[in-house]
Amino acid sequence: MNYSGVNFDTYFKNYPDEKGYFGRYGGCYIQPELQKAMEEITEAYFTICKSTRFISELRRIRREFQGRPTPISHLERLSGSLGNVQLYVKREDLNHTGAHKLNHCMGEALLAKYMGKKKLIAETGAGQHGVALATAAAYFGMECDIYMGSVDIKKQAPNVARMKILGANVVEVTHGLQTLKEAVDAAFEAYANEYKDAIYCIGSVLGPHPFPMMVRDFQAVVGIEAREQFTSMTGELPDAIVACVGGGSNAAGFFSGFLNDPVDIYGVEPLGRGPKLGDHAASLQYGEEGIMHGFNSIMLKDENGEPAPVYSVASGLDYPSSGPEHAFLHELGRVRYDVVDDEEAIDAFFKLSRLEGIIPAIESSHAVAYGIKLAQRMGKGSVLINLSGRGDKDMDYVIENYGIR
Ligand SMILES: *Cc1c(COP(=O)(O)O)cnc(C)c1O
Repeated sequence: MNYSGVNFDTYFKNYPDEKGYFGRYGGCYIQPELQKAMEEITEAYFTICKSTRFISELRRIRREFQGRPTPISHLERLSGSLGNVQLYVKREDLNHTGAHKLNHCMGEALLAKYMGKKKLIAETGAGQHGVALATAAAYFGMECDIYMGSVDIKKQAPNVARMKILGANVVEVTHGLQTLKEAVDAAFEAYANEYKDAIYCIGSVLGPHPFPMMVRDFQAVVGIEAREQFTSMTGELPDAIVACVGGGSNAAGFFSGFLNDPVDIYGVEPLGRGPKLGDHAASLQYGEEGIMHGFNSIMLKDENGEPAPVYSVASGLDYPSSGPEHAFLHELGRVRYDVVDDEEAIDAFFKLSRLEGIIPAIESSHAVAYGIKLAQRMGKGSVLINLSGRGDKDMDYVIENYGIR
């Protein structure tokens, strides 16, 4: 299939290119000491991802530890309430630890093990990436340092407890605003000192090459399973698919299974409280080209050209940029990116809970809300939504701030 001059039959061979670019986006903008570390990871990845031992080990882990494949559920009652469109969800909420993040964390940790590394390093904001990585570290018997701002440590007590129970070392970052940005800087600094024995595990399709490619490849299992399961369930492809986009990892993996198909693809960004800068995190919708955290993409900038403050009710979506592959697919028009605000997401959170018995993560509720709007617009056909995670982590917050609806 051809799209804006790009041949999707050979897309995965050509994108990213050997320097890590998806068109003009991506690359590796990083301090010289770490350039070598990135090259080492790229080389190891390209060797290992062709090794049958690595592939069969990852398959075994997915089956025996993560509980894959996760099913697709037909949302019969929700669809019935909307008319003639049939809605389906890919159940990443049933992946071990309750979200898609473990898919790439297990891949990154297995790669680290093959490279002879002893420690996994990462930053975390809301704690979801930290918990997934701490789980992978426990599984492989590796050390794990998770950098986290003091403010986030106080806000995310249950996830801090989970990481500690799993044996991770939660390193408190006490300077600046004491949140994610400082944690990223502190984790990179630690990595620059420790890269001989440690590997930095990025939590989404972000950061310098090879991470946007590697994380997408590890998440591609979601799209591969979903395409197979949906076609064997219904005898055809879905008319449209939808996923939420924070950094963009669940969307990148899910979309990858359908890029070369006649399927409409929608990425959903958080509009938060509204379109004013600071009230949302819809970077592809409102951002401009720029370099941050080691890669070139579309980002939200403040008046000084620095990453702008962002907001969403879903803490997993509040990042001021998106992965370079999303910026590329946006530019090509192959994927359409649209927005859902806090209210719509909370509404969908309750609808899916009440009508289907599935409590979704607020992040995933953005995709569900968009699926509902799309169904009303389409009038007939089918929509497959990636349910990136479960909502247990969000229940207290929702009840406190929105009450029971
Ligand atoms: C972290 C998270 C997201 C956002 O991350 P992406 O990289 O955009 O997928 C979405 N859903 C859940 C449940 C998450 O934990």
